[in-house]
Amino acid sequence: MKFPPGRAELPGRPWVLPLALAGLLLGGCAATPTLATFRMDDPPCYDRARRGNVPVVDSHLHFRPFGGPALPFDEVVGYLERSGVLFANVYGIGQMLPLDSLCTYYLDCPGTPVTPTLKNDFANAMAHAESARRDVHLTLSMTFPDLGRPETVLPRMRLLDEEFPGRFGWMGEVNLVKQALFGNWHRAVPLGKIRDWAPFMAELRDRGIPLAVHADLGNHREPTAYLDWIEALLRHYPDNVIVWMHLGLSRELVDLDAGNHVAILTSILERYPKAMLDISWRVLEDHVFSDPRKRAVYAAFLNAHSERILPGTDFVASANRTFADYRSDLEATSRILRYLDDTAFRNIALGRNYFRLLNLDYEAPPVCGAPDNGG
Ligand SMILES: [Zn+2]
Repeated sequence: MKFPPGRAELPGRPWVLPLALAGLLLGGCAATPTLATFRMDDPPCYDRARRGNVPVVDSHLHFRPFGGPALPFDEVVGYLERSGVLFANVYGIGQMLPLDSLCTYYLDCPGTPVTPTLKNDFANAMAHAESARRDVHLTLSMTFPDLGRPETVLPRMRLLDEEFPGRFGWMGEVNLVKQALFGNWHRAVPLGKIRDWAPFMAELRDRGIPLAVHADLGNHREPTAYLDWIEALLRHYPDNVIVWMHLGLSRELVDLDAGNHVAILTSILERYPKAMLDISWRVLEDHVFSDPRKRAVYAAFLNAHSERILPGTDFVASANRTFADYRSDLEATSRILRYLDDTAFRNIALGRNYFRLLNLDYEAPPVCGAPDNGG
């Protein structure tokens, strides 16, 4: 495990030792992990048997809806606190309905165009700046890019930099091809356009900003119809950290043979060392992982490649949703984590991968009783 440079400063923080002692007095493993736990040099181990398998990271969380009002920012942060989620990416949403639309979900309004926009990134950045909550570590994400018009991306990144210097550390979820949106005028980004992304991809690479991409693998009729899209992206930009959302699955493709799917994913991870995979969205659990035969195949894959996987809920914070909805999404998307070995659990659920990707000054605690707790 490589530690970020800032880690050397830890012993100088005056509150680390008292917090560590408090943790011990509260019973070591029994103490509820906090952000401070993840800054300790020698944190108490994480007891999976007692705490369950809910991750401390939600790397895929939309604070803004497709349309209509959003839940208040601090209310969503409160959901995270109440759930034990300590780290999250603050996504807007990659596409919005028109402001005068009465819909909150694009599938309820077929024929209405949904388009990428800067609105949500501004709204999130302002809400984050004004938020009083500081017990959850939040990373702001740029969700505005219109990948079919790549010439617009770098100027808008500069605009966000000017208005919110140093605040955005992630880009996505952006849409390369999302079949669910085809009824709302979205089309797959033309393959030939991907090479035109070079200016903003260079900027992301130089600043260490991951790009999280929704790129459907295919559909029931043609399971790998869009494999060329994610392949082209990875081939053009092998030095960027690119996170492939939902393992390429979607509602249009939940009956893919697990063995074939895992073979595709493995090939990608082997050929592109910087590629990462996101296992967010309850559709994966509800329609794929919940099948015990498929689950065994995916669990073996996740354990074998655990340094390349990120967890998330894909919760969308429209105003009609509640804490119970967030808990339900979190619980569903966590179910597969039960089948991880302790090393994989530490990498994926306890944040080790997330901290490494973002060079964050945090360290995942070891799992209690794991034989491989060494850093
Ligand atoms: Zn999403």
